[in-house]
Amino acid sequence: MAHVDERTARRVAEEAREKAWRLPSFGKQLFLGDFRLDLIHPHPRPDEEDQGKGEEFLARLREFCETKVDPRVIEREARIPDDVIKGLKALGAFGMKIPEEYGGLGLSQVYYNKALMLAGSTHSALGALLSAHQSIGVPQPIKLFGTDRQKREFLPRCVNEISAFLLTEPDVGSDPARLRTTAVPDGDEYVIDGVKLWTTNGVIADLLVVMARVPKSEGHRGGITAFVVEAKSEGVTVENRNAFMGLRGIENGVTRLHQVRVPAANRVGEEGQGLKIALTTLNTGRLSLPAMCAGAAKWATMIAREWSRERVQWGRPVGEHEAVAAKISFIAATAYALEAMVDLSSALADDSRNDIRIEAALAKLYASEMACRVADELVQIRGGRGYETAESLAARGERGVPAEQLLRDLRINRIFEGSSEIMRLLIAREAVDTHLSVAGDIIDPDADLKAKAKAVGRAGGFYSTWFPTLLAGAGQRPGSYAGFGPLARHLRYVERSSRKLARSVFYAAGRWQGGLERRQGFLGRMVDIGAELFAMSAVCVRAKADDRPEAYELAEAFCAQARVRIGELFDRLWHNTDALDARLARRVMDGRYTWLEEGVLDPSIPGPWIAEPAPGPSRRKNVHHTVA
Ligand SMILES: Cc1cc2nc3c(=O)[nH]c(=O)nc-3n(C[C@H](O)[C@H](O)[C@H](O)COP(=O)(O)OP(=O)(O)OC[C@H]3O[C@@H](n4cnc5c(N)ncnc54)[C@H](O)[C@@H]3O)c2cc1C
Repeated sequence: MAHVDERTARRVAEEAREKAWRLPSFGKQLFLGDFRLDLIHPHPRPDEEDQGKGEEFLARLREFCETKVDPRVIEREARIPDDVIKGLKALGAFGMKIPEEYGGLGLSQVYYNKALMLAGSTHSALGALLSAHQSIGVPQPIKLFGTDRQKREFLPRCVNEISAFLLTEPDVGSDPARLRTTAVPDGDEYVIDGVKLWTTNGVIADLLVVMARVPKSEGHRGGITAFVVEAKSEGVTVENRNAFMGLRGIENGVTRLHQVRVPAANRVGEEGQGLKIALTTLNTGRLSLPAMCAGAAKWATMIAREWSRERVQWGRPVGEHEAVAAKISFIAATAYALEAMVDLSSALADDSRNDIRIEAALAKLYASEMACRVADELVQIRGGRGYETAESLAARGERGVPAEQLLRDLRINRIFEGSSEIMRLLIAREAVDTHLSVAGDIIDPDADLKAKAKAVGRAGGFYSTWFPTLLAGAGQRPGSYAGFGPLARHLRYVERSSRKLARSVFYAAGRWQGGLERRQGFLGRMVDIGAELFAMSAVCVRAKADDRPEAYELAEAFCAQARVRIGELFDRLWHNTDALDARLARRVMDGRYTWLEEGVLDPSIPGPWIAEPAPGPSRRKNVHHTVA
């Protein structure tokens, strides 16, 4: 596939979208100016059986992580020891979300995420190992889309075996329309050829979910399709074990598939459904990363608390200097908010009362961005010790606090499972869905005149009733949300801001019409405002459920901080440098300012002193299969 234009990329993304909204969505209504607090309040509580099972497992996992895992060894050797993997299997940690009838633990979403938070706080590579297997690997798509036979065959295996999800290719990152791996039908088999990049768990996996393109032919509708592939199949080769800025210990590789024969019975869903399956799997799978980000923020709160009291400079503990105090307050309030968002979204998912695809996506975007800020502030609070490795600190007799590691490990969350830029586009698409379904044909270049005329009529009807609802609401009534005590004023703010946001989208759609989809600056800020409003809502609902003064204090601080950020975002919706930036970026890419780059060397171009590249960490022997 030599060239895929933007329109094709959008069409492929659109086809992968789940179009129906069968259940109510808090997030969708929020962007429409309809603050449906009733959808998230009172905070759903786990049922007693789920809670008992979950707490029992958490206790066993905690004991294992505390006594059997040395995170310093993982960090030093960039590898999770075999006995740790074996121990996790024995605990059932690879089958946390697999139903009990297939040998798994059958944990709820709430407890699955709590377990990931715990394991990920021990070492982030453990979180990656468990979540890549269960949130995107074989178990989840098979549970949701597999046939009975596939469930019986693969789910019990996934309790004890490791799986990986292979979508990305050297030329396919955010744009699956470019996917080149092929699966050619041959009798009752498919023959897969292609190269997959950055396969988390791919180096040690037993089972792979491979996304490949089936060519259209007689009897085959074709399209991007998901397959379960045995990693030991002839023709599967792990060509490299990749190393990264952080997440040392992740078993991530390059996997080549050469003439790999896969039974048609291993196809998941129908031909052409692969991306839809991947996206639907991610509806709840997306909560794993925010859960681990929330865990990181909780740990950062603890380190910030301890260090800011202990370290005295200029006659006071550093936490008493206002500049540092602001960072502590930000870290603690954000930790509370991230956990509130994850717990609420997970509990809603368990309840199956709401469609949580927007909330989970907002949580992924928001938590990955905010956790990076939290880690950065933690490094700053720790000063020079924040920049020093835990190993070096310990070697000179200090406590080995891995603050710099946190910063390195968290950074990837803004890139994988949908980069922040792509998440903003996906969420923006969902946020404007109602507008597109009533008025989309007016701006669709492919719609004929009849369809456009129909859309004008439909839009007239919809907007004449919808727009007036944006002008007044509960947020303007001083006594509303009184049950929330001091937090009521923040909920009123959320209600007012939700309407303001919806009005802004309406104005923007009128101003840019079809061009709105390319206004990524505007759309991104709109989504960021939505994320802050969701976080504020989750925090207030959580504080009320926690029902203790300390929870109200944290919620108060978070809401006050979020309101400052929201104010800036609203301002920047209309006052920004987007057009100027786009112009300047084009000129940079055209090479207009290359003189600016003079006076430095480029370390990525090897000099004569480099004989050959340094060897990477050793590969696991048992997984290096040769090309047939
Ligand atoms: C440690 C690690 C583990 C991974 N694990 C897996 C895995 O298990 N399975 C798997 O399949 N993949 C995995 N990936 C791949 C990961 O999902 C991709 O890196 C990610 O999707 C981004 O793709 P890319 O790196 O090719 O960036 P690109 O798509 O090339 O994007 C480059 C930049 O452009 C931005 N961008 C791209 N398109 C747009 C657009 N339309 N509008 C605005 N901005 C845009 C991106 O946000 C990014 O900032 C992993 C990657 C890493 C580093």
